[in-house]
Amino acid sequence: MKITATVLETTDRDGDYRKTAPLRIVEIDLAPPGPDELLLKIEAAGLCHSDLSVINGDRPRPLPMALGHEAVGTVLEAGRVAAQSFEIGDRVVLSFLPQCGECERCISGEPYLCSRGAASNGAGTLLSGAVRLSEDGHPVHHHLGASAFASHAVVDRRSAVRIPADIPAEIAALFGCAVLTGVGAVLNTGKLVAGESVAIYGLGGVGLAALMGAIAGGAQPVVAIDPLLEKRELALELGAVAAFDTTASHDEISRALGGRPDLVVETVGRAAVLGQAFTLARIGGRIVTVGLPREADTLDFSPLALVAEGKSLIGSYMGSSVPARDIPRYIKLWRAGRLPVERLLSSVTPLGEINTLFARLHEGTAIRQIVKA
Ligand SMILES: [Zn+2]
Ligand SMILES: [Zn+2]
Repeated sequence: MKITATVLETTDRDGDYRKTAPLRIVEIDLAPPGPDELLLKIEAAGLCHSDLSVINGDRPRPLPMALGHEAVGTVLEAGRVAAQSFEIGDRVVLSFLPQCGECERCISGEPYLCSRGAASNGAGTLLSGAVRLSEDGHPVHHHLGASAFASHAVVDRRSAVRIPADIPAEIAALFGCAVLTGVGAVLNTGKLVAGESVAIYGLGGVGLAALMGAIAGGAQPVVAIDPLLEKRELALELGAVAAFDTTASHDEISRALGGRPDLVVETVGRAAVLGQAFTLARIGGRIVTVGLPREADTLDFSPLALVAEGKSLIGSYMGSSVPARDIPRYIKLWRAGRLPVERLLSSVTPLGEINTLFARLHEGTAIRQIVKA
């Protein structure tokens, strides 16, 4: 069938995306779903730094690729196997790593590190290895098993988590990436204990979701660090006791916390910031890193503190999440008013504005921008 999708042909390092318009919105072909796959009508999709990292080349991916991975859709058709767990009309949130359920990581209880899912994401295919998108007979790769800046998508059933019918699409979409990653970094990877103090570096969608997760999980007190005043003000409204720009010293931050933080979450994706996060944590503290740095970045600090101060530096992919377990939990917290995900929304616009929206994301002035095809 013919669908509308958003295709990246070549990377664009630091262009003004309003002018260079690296993304083309085009009609391309979508093949029917395989046995394990679902055909979805996409309701809404959010712009994420992982999309930007493909556009600017920080995360090299096979091109052309149809972008977009943080999304919610409705099942229009289910393949033979997928039909055993999904019905036509089901609403699903997409997680950005399909979890095969059979590889060593999956059966060891670490499905967020699924090796088959990572391989298919890297190759730009669905979990089955298939590519269902094409333009004039030439394959167009899938982004993170989703390719959701589109009217429709075919996804593996293991990329989809069923959600209730009544959640507004622009909010539901956010559960698939920003919320899963940010809240999971604090609760799953960071193993927050109620009453612990937390510092969050970076207040993009993931950083703000981490802040909400910390508050919902009983952290006390919580502070945030970000260069943009508007984002710091939002952090204070969400329950942070203080918010600092990037010039704040460790002593200033610690004074607001009543001591060095138990848990520090770094969401910026720059090695220098991770270094600061590491030194800020208390003796025996945990430092969770979620931001995706460039491949060439290297960390520069004395590893002595790892041993002598008993600190733990922990990487967090997808918030160490089990999407089918965690998305329903986070939806319950949202319903109870304890995870105000709607505060992440910067805008909801038609797909046609996507290059301008990526310019804003690149400039850091937007949090979560939602598009609808
Ligand atoms: Zn994302
Ligand atoms: Zn697996």
